[in-house]
Amino acid sequence: ATDKETLGFQTEAKQLLQLMIHSLYSNKEIFLRELISNASDAADKLRFEALSDGTLYEDDPELRIAIDFDKEAKTITIADNGIGMSKEDVINHLGTIAKSGTAEFMSKLSGDQQKDSQLIGQFGVGFYSAFIVADRVEVKTRRAGLDKSEGVHWESEGEAEFSVESIEKEGRGTTIILHLREDSADFADDFRIRSVVKKYSDHISLPVMMEKQITPEYDEEGNEKPVEENLEPEFEAINDATALWTRSRSEVEDDEYKEFYKHVSHDFQDPLTWSHNKVEGKLEYNSLLYVPAKAPFDMWNRDATRGLKLYVQRTFIMDDAEQFLPLYLRFIKGVVDSNDLSLNVSREILQQDPAVDSMKSALTKRVLDMLSKMAKKDAEQYQAFWDEFGQVLKEGPAEDFSNKEKIAKLFRFASTHSNSEVQDQSLEDYVSRMKEGQEKIYYVAAENYTTGSNSPHLEVFRKKGIEVLVLFDRVDEWLMGHMMDFDGKGFQDVGKGELDLGELEDEADKQEKEKLESENKDLVERVKTVLEAKVEEVRVTNRLTDSPACLVVNDGDMGAQMRRILEQAGQ
Ligand code: ADP
Ligand code: MG
Repeated sequence: ATDKETLGFQTEAKQLLQLMIHSLYSNKEIFLRELISNASDAADKLRFEALSDGTLYEDDPELRIAIDFDKEAKTITIADNGIGMSKEDVINHLGTIAKSGTAEFMSKLSGDQQKDSQLIGQFGVGFYSAFIVADRVEVKTRRAGLDKSEGVHWESEGEAEFSVESIEKEGRGTTIILHLREDSADFADDFRIRSVVKKYSDHISLPVMMEKQITPEYDEEGNEKPVEENLEPEFEAINDATALWTRSRSEVEDDEYKEFYKHVSHDFQDPLTWSHNKVEGKLEYNSLLYVPAKAPFDMWNRDATRGLKLYVQRTFIMDDAEQFLPLYLRFIKGVVDSNDLSLNVSREILQQDPAVDSMKSALTKRVLDMLSKMAKKDAEQYQAFWDEFGQVLKEGPAEDFSNKEKIAKLFRFASTHSNSEVQDQSLEDYVSRMKEGQEKIYYVAAENYTTGSNSPHLEVFRKKGIEVLVLFDRVDEWLMGHMMDFDGKGFQDVGKGELDLGELEDEADKQEKEKLESENKDLVERVKTVLEAKVEEVRVTNRLTDSPACLVVNDGDMGAQMRRILEQAGQ
């Protein structure tokens, strides 16, 4: 009797699979990387669970991945003895193609396959990449600790449905059998598999085993000697199998760093940059931190996963350890491997451990240094970073007071200097262009660049050739509330208060203003009476050169942009 049942993927599944097959077609071989990456994660999870329950190893403690193939049958088999999956796990993890963010992802699709292919890269398809090369995929798995009879057989052709059935499975872990498509049958080949594994998965710390090729032996006459029958096949590791972050920087190639990033981040694209460090002394740890190229879909979602992969003395402890970096650096991916924490450290303990605090502040500095290095070395790359993550970084000064100057140096703004809405001017650049006698950094906040740069408040600055930053991100006014100063110079909203140009105001300006005031006394009084209930004060000004009048708010009052945001939020 069998309990085989057929279940459907979600409605988006087929579309997603088609798109994936199309967009990754020229890079088909990455399916192997994804399946090995999953097997490695499964080994990590088993080792972790076995810390508190050694019996999970059963009688098979040597964790490994084994790859086999059959040229005639056109199959590749990838077997691990990791944590495995229960029936529920299988249905949850292999039955739902859609992860958090899928709906949003689908809504962004244009229908233009070319464009959509670009998008899928940042989505991450993992297990389903098997269908790029296979038209049928079988999974046989048993979760560690469950009875042999609780194995599961999953099967799908990557269309609308999949089946699950209970089976007997001797060894724990997961075996994946790929029935290759006609056009991908060439993957069932020893040399091909070895070179793909070397290229993409050399950094995996788990050994990837393959059967040793028997080198033919020859007799004196040059004839190939017959191979002994029933010879036990010998296996060998075909990858390096040391944890990449424990190796020294000079030994690791850029490509290896990039592939390792894809493994830890589940991202398909190369990272922008990374920083690999070994720390010795009072605290001992290795860290490898990456800046992704693209912001995840859920960067603004409070519940989105974030944080680093935590290892303690090479043993995987947890994903998404969020205690090692502040919230405004939540886009950073990577690994931290500590020698000081205990193997049974939990999230709760992490929150209270002073060692974690020291690591957090050191790792924060590393990230800020890595970013400023990028900004100095490659302005174009930094601009790409800023466009993706600048808004998150702007949360920095409020959250991390001690690094506020460092963070401020990383900011980029649009400015009347470049006269464009591209946010590419640093505060250092601004300060270097300040006019003699200028004491403040001036900015205008508006809902977009055009409105900001056309603000009547800028007229006097234009006349005097003084640069003004044009802020139009939603967070900007809130940010300015936390900025106080930069390089000893205060910030001044040009739309607020009595404009004080300080030293920039010359004698002629002052005289002109006094003259205007006395000449227009009656006018001011009349306007005041008319607008009585609506304004607090009416003043003569020489800030305007073209416009007859403008509204300003008091220094302590909420800015116009902030007011609009609150109004939109219904307050
Ligand atoms: P991701 O690796 O990003 O979570 P995948 O699509 O690659 O996404 O895998 C989905 C899930 O299926 C994994 O998170 C894991 O729970 C499960 N899984 C996949 N392969 C294995 C495996 N070899 N052993 C155990 N679980 C696995
Ligand atoms: Mg995966």
